[in-house]
Amino acid sequence: MRQWVDAGNARSLSFRLTQLRLLKQALLEREQEINKALYEDLRKSPEEVWATELGLVHHEIDTTIRNLKNWMRPKARKTNLLNWPSQSQIRPEPKGLVLIISPWNYPLQLLLKPAIGAMAAGNAMVLKASEHAPATAALLSELVSTTFDQNYMRLLVDNGATVIPSLMRELNFDHVFFTGSTTVGQSIYQLAAEKLTPVTLELGGKSPCVIEADANLTVAARRIASIKFSNCGQMCVAPDYLLIHESIQDRFLDLLKQTIQQFYSENPARVQHYGKIIHAGHFDRLTNLLRGTAPWTCGQHDRTHLFFAPTLIENIDVDHPLMQSEIFGPILPVFTYRKKDDALSIIRRNPDPLAFYVFTENNQLGFDWVDAVPAGGACINQAAWHLTNPNLPFGGRGASGIGAYQGEATFLTFSHLKSVMRTPTWFDPMFKYPPFKGKLKWLKRFV
Ligand code: NAD
Repeated sequence: MRQWVDAGNARSLSFRLTQLRLLKQALLEREQEINKALYEDLRKSPEEVWATELGLVHHEIDTTIRNLKNWMRPKARKTNLLNWPSQSQIRPEPKGLVLIISPWNYPLQLLLKPAIGAMAAGNAMVLKASEHAPATAALLSELVSTTFDQNYMRLLVDNGATVIPSLMRELNFDHVFFTGSTTVGQSIYQLAAEKLTPVTLELGGKSPCVIEADANLTVAARRIASIKFSNCGQMCVAPDYLLIHESIQDRFLDLLKQTIQQFYSENPARVQHYGKIIHAGHFDRLTNLLRGTAPWTCGQHDRTHLFFAPTLIENIDVDHPLMQSEIFGPILPVFTYRKKDDALSIIRRNPDPLAFYVFTENNQLGFDWVDAVPAGGACINQAAWHLTNPNLPFGGRGASGIGAYQGEATFLTFSHLKSVMRTPTWFDPMFKYPPFKGKLKWLKRFV
């Protein structure tokens, strides 16, 4: 792969566009199988697959194909007086051979969206799908091996802990793009440090959601419930806990419970569009988190079918285990606050989150909240939908991640931006050359 990519095989615009079109065609041909695999792994309905996986990937391919020529173009930059009459530009060039590691919760789009950017930027790549979504991983493995030259793209499904460290030590990757947990992200960062490999880390964290006294409660309940319980809460940007202004707490919680029941009925286990927990280990982790609480649930949990009902938790202490790490399931703790500082002090107990949400009808108040909470991204009167806009780079901050991607940002992630200056020879001022005695006044003027 290394020799093949270093020979420039993936570099031309026409090669990049052809491969992107091949990927699109391969996905279109397999739409039914993709729906089947994602149902098997996570019980996703075809509608959810389109809205949160396949549709986003098609949109990313289309946006990339439409803009690639422009993204690849060298960008002229101004030149300072010292360097006159040189011309300056930034030339994006492929990084080379890259590694993309993905998690199980959105096993299609979290692998393919970064891959689309890596293809657009002219790289060869090794893709590592999650072993915990085996049906989707098998399908993607077949797709990659039958669609692409194996010098260009390969897909691995093996256990990450076994395969990634040796792979990163043996192959000199030019960039590693990791989406997953903070703990594994730390290991990837350490492995990358051994060879000073640039990384993007898309991690997790506890994303807070504030409901202000003046919020549109009906809309807030709908938007929060639909995101929090989508994919059974196994979403990196799901609201992790709510902070509700005390003046509206009872009204809002009543509305939220009604909305959950409207969306998923009184028995979500029978609803085709309610997902399942990925595996028994994760189910047990979530059940253990409920110890010592008095949950409100919409339906019964069922370990045999990995069904975990939408669950709200009131009246817990801010020190409860639910508040000490990312929940990553359909459990939503609820707190009230009177003053903004009280809510901020709860938020500050955890590292900077991946996302922050606030519901308010007052624009200024919304932006004041957004400015007060350091987070990867934010929505006002919405949850998670910011990541469906390819014009907004998506990523974390501090412990929730390093770097951002989507649309052009993914292309830039996988490109090296080479600063280039071209200087003509007809003008060659002598103050730039030794001996420098007597030239200080010129240096002071131009340097
Ligand atoms: P994970 O970190 O366990 O696994 C992610 C990938 O890393 C998998 O492919 C796995 O095989 C591999 N891996 C596991 N252990 C490894 C090791 N020791 N060395 C190298 N590779 C290893 O994450 P997960 O359980 O699959 O996904 C859930 C986590 O991902 C949550 O924390 C969630 O917040 C996060 N996430 C973040 C985003 C984002 O965009 N920021 C999106 C989805 C999920």
